[in-house]
Amino acid sequence: MTDFTMQTDSDGVATITWDVARKSMNVMSTAGFALLSDLVDQALADPAVKGIIITSGKKDFAGGMDLNVIAQMRAGGAQAIFDGVMTMHKVLRKIELAGMDPKTKKGGKPIVAALPGTALGIGLELPLSCHRIIAAENPKAKIGLPEIMVGIFPGAGGTTRLVRKMGAMMAAPFLLEGKLSDPKSAKGAGLIDEVVPATDLLARAKEWVLAAKDADLVKPWDDKGYKMPGGAPYHPAGFMTFVGANAMVHGKTMGVYPAAKALLAAVYEGALVPFDAALRIEARHFTSVLTNPSSSAMIRSLFINKEALEKGANRPEAPDQSVKKVGVIGAGMMGAGIAYVSANAGIEVVLIDAAQEAADRGKKHSEDLLDKGMKRGKVTAEKKAEVLGRITATTDYAALAGCDLIVEAVFEDPRVKADVTAKVEAATGPDCIFATNTSTLPITGLAAASKRPEQFIGIHFFSPVDKMMLVEIIRGKATGQRAVAKALDFVRQIRKTPIVVNDARFFFANRCIIPYINEGIRMVAEGVEPALVENAAKLVGMPLGPLQLVDETSIDLGVKIAKATKAAMGDDYPDEAVDHVLFWMADQGRLGRKSNAGFYAYDDKGNRLALWDGLEQKYPLDRMQPSLTDVQHRLLFAQVLEAVRALEEGVLTDIREGDVGAILGWGFAPWSGGPFSWLDIIGAARAVEICRSLTAQFGPRFHAPALLRDMAEKGETFYGRFGGAQQAA
Ligand code: NAD
Repeated sequence: MTDFTMQTDSDGVATITWDVARKSMNVMSTAGFALLSDLVDQALADPAVKGIIITSGKKDFAGGMDLNVIAQMRAGGAQAIFDGVMTMHKVLRKIELAGMDPKTKKGGKPIVAALPGTALGIGLELPLSCHRIIAAENPKAKIGLPEIMVGIFPGAGGTTRLVRKMGAMMAAPFLLEGKLSDPKSAKGAGLIDEVVPATDLLARAKEWVLAAKDADLVKPWDDKGYKMPGGAPYHPAGFMTFVGANAMVHGKTMGVYPAAKALLAAVYEGALVPFDAALRIEARHFTSVLTNPSSSAMIRSLFINKEALEKGANRPEAPDQSVKKVGVIGAGMMGAGIAYVSANAGIEVVLIDAAQEAADRGKKHSEDLLDKGMKRGKVTAEKKAEVLGRITATTDYAALAGCDLIVEAVFEDPRVKADVTAKVEAATGPDCIFATNTSTLPITGLAAASKRPEQFIGIHFFSPVDKMMLVEIIRGKATGQRAVAKALDFVRQIRKTPIVVNDARFFFANRCIIPYINEGIRMVAEGVEPALVENAAKLVGMPLGPLQLVDETSIDLGVKIAKATKAAMGDDYPDEAVDHVLFWMADQGRLGRKSNAGFYAYDDKGNRLALWDGLEQKYPLDRMQPSLTDVQHRLLFAQVLEAVRALEEGVLTDIREGDVGAILGWGFAPWSGGPFSWLDIIGAARAVEICRSLTAQFGPRFHAPALLRDMAEKGETFYGRFGGAQQAA
């Protein structure tokens, strides 16, 4: 075990260097923590040591806790988690008190954290226990506590220390939103104490250690008369903060995230008691979060599996297919976005539209986004020029020569797409891969227009392209492995998360979203209070209610999709009741946000007001309204049963992709870890039981798929049956 090593120089300054072998980023393990504790003991006991620097042998300080530690702790149950956390508290408290006399607060040894770069999670909690935090100037470094993003919260004293250091109000964005800062902003916010040029980092740390006085080692909260900045809960100002924070957090999270609730409780209760008691409270709440299935599901989907997919878990064997020059055909909303993210990733882009004006407008989209970035100080003038310099906006297909990938985003019309395919293939080399961004047309059908169907693939982006992190890659019947590898390498270049699915109506994401929207609209037709539908969705963690979602994506698009689906399905078409509402809305000219009128009312500036009251006149409310749970079950099962069917039919081949894709693609209740994780949380048997009841009341669309029934009989879970090693967390 060599995660930490220590060397003491002739001036009596011991440097403890964190450098985990065979990893590019330091992560904390249980053994590493024990070693750090031993080294600190040695240094504190050694009369030759005057003070300690804790730093890293890598370009960054640390990325956080090794997730296997969390998995091990969880496996031992609540007591093991609590004991493990208390052991960490003891070590960090030992660093903080640094051997000083508890009464006189004298005689301690100064301990400084010297951060060369990124410091996240425990990588910041450890420095927070030191007496000073000095970071190197490094605009790329990220400093913060991102735990909340994966369903836990800082549980190694970070919560308690940050609130006592900054006050609850100032600590809120770091704890509740997982805000990350570069060193300069972190210093500005009071998260760290000093920023120095990288080359001076260790010298400055040593200088501070040698000059530190006894008083410099006493944390404010260990000093007599400590008052929490901004006030503790029963201070008038503090009272406002705590009441406000509670309302704000519940408003944002709808109470479905156990970590947000537990964090608030730890902060509030911790603020009322002395520091060591606050640490114990933090440990108890942390234990409760770790034993909650939501946290393991979130870590599994949003951290472990998301990263695995980004690293190419499902990439076929093929040489590097990184894209050098991409042709984007159609410079509308999607094409313009695809051009921007590609150019931003350093790829040369040819952006083609039927008219030069349209192509230029598409390029202008990149300019607008870059200007926005400049206003926020995120983009420099050089960067803007560089990115724009990579985009050629033209109508001339000859400019596509040398492209190794084409992404087509023209109108959703098979004839237009076929025409474009032929023109592109005439202008590009034999190795070029052709991708379509279609959202509804089967890839295999579109590939019929191609002379090279094995090089034809779907790369489905979500809108707005620059913000949405999921990209759905669709294999047509003839799509070859190199095309899949190309699509995956492209998605990696533009730093998004890919899933790879097989070709079927609406692929995966839209296949699950459409039934969600339809179920919401169907309830309106039945006389269910629209506000009940919308709030039920939000209270179960959906970012948008189904009616708001269809307003955003546009009601006429819904009409178009409904007509096409009906034409394809004939008599089996199940959504007449939905169409009744949808078509009527379109007839009223209520097309959603884009027409400033939809299921919601909007003001002249496009701000969403309340649900439109005209809806109630056309679809009178039923006197008997369903329960919240019934509405939620309908909305959730509409989605998760589609996900199960997609798996059964082989459209999805990996449940990790189903879960990650659902959260990133349409915001499926992130607290649950995704549809398969959610079904695992409630259990297949219970799911089948709910399906039975929903089917009896609302019809066969809720019939439990055979796979789910089989799992219920055998007592299996999705991750048990299909996940194997992926169940790491
Ligand atoms: P859009 O109407 O905004 O843009 C289409 C562009 O293609 C227009 O600029 C048009 O001038 C251009 N075009 C049409 N025919 C052309 C031709 N023959 N040659 C060159 N350019 C041509 O549409 P959009 O919303 O960007 O959608 C484009 C594609 O992306 C569609 O297939 C759509 O289904 C798909 N898609 C859309 C979304 C979405 O949310 N809008 C999401 C995913 C996928």
